[in-house]
Amino acid sequence: MSSRGTPSNATVGEKEIVVAEVLGFCWGVRRALEIVRNAARERPVAALGDIIHNPIVVEQLTREGVLPVTDPVEAKRHGLDRVAITAHGAPPTRYQEASVYDLEVIDTTCPLVTKVQRLAQKLALQGYFLVVYGDAQHPEVRGVLGWAGTERACAAKSFDDLPWDGPRGTGAMQPPPRKVALIAQTTKRTDEFTAFAQALAAWVLPHGGELRVVNTICQPTWERQEALARLARTVDLVLVIGGRKSSNSARLVEVSRSLGTPSVLVERPDQLDPALFAPVRRVGITAGASTPDEVILAVIEELVRLGFAPPQRLWRDDDPDVEEFAD
Ligand code: SF4
Repeated sequence: MSSRGTPSNATVGEKEIVVAEVLGFCWGVRRALEIVRNAARERPVAALGDIIHNPIVVEQLTREGVLPVTDPVEAKRHGLDRVAITAHGAPPTRYQEASVYDLEVIDTTCPLVTKVQRLAQKLALQGYFLVVYGDAQHPEVRGVLGWAGTERACAAKSFDDLPWDGPRGTGAMQPPPRKVALIAQTTKRTDEFTAFAQALAAWVLPHGGELRVVNTICQPTWERQEALARLARTVDLVLVIGGRKSSNSARLVEVSRSLGTPSVLVERPDQLDPALFAPVRRVGITAGASTPDEVILAVIEELVRLGFAPPQRLWRDDDPDVEEFAD
């Protein structure tokens, strides 16, 4: 595999690790972990799903007294009196169920997700048909649609997912509703969301309709995508460290591949395949927003063991402007 992009200070012939400027834990994940860990120090708490989509963190939390459950009934069965809502948020029905079972709610919903939930509710009340650009099965999207509180809403990743496009295969397209609003799952790709918005505009506007577009992809997500785009152009392979269920980690793999740089996802150091790295001279490292620092450092150590020089620099771990996005 040939080396691409900017030369570095490494000794000629040395195998290099280049780390993205921004990667790993985002502000919302750090906040969620702090809340739930503080709660578990008092007594065990049930988590309604994975607090964040990283299996290593979920295992750590379980040992610390944060027990994943599927619903309030299971929490009760374990004799627990508190349930934690995950960083992805949940629909209002989840809060109601907790109340019915007399469970206290520890809410770790990221404030940037709460902001999208409120926006969804407002747009629905204003009479817009709400389209959430995202994965229908993702807990964040299910929560946002729940807060919209209307049948006139859907999740969509393509026009095929929209409910008003007429019978499949007939070529007949029904006119869309008069008022359509488009928002995004916080961890989506900005370029794909933009393309979807443009295509939707090209359909809604000629029918005399109104399209309101709000980019709700969160700042930490696009910062990580931008940092990766800068990195991917200079390396032979991008290694994304993140959970297999993590939406933003999957997006990082896609971003790299769309720029023509091969990319693989690993959850932990023992998943590194030495044969894959043998022909690689410059490997780029990035990590999803739910990947802890210690896992990233362990993967870097493993790469060094495989013959790479230690990186010249690590990443900056703060999200300095995020507070203003949470207003
Ligand atoms: S990725 Fe964005 S929305 Fe999700 S927890 Fe992090 S900051 Fe919040």
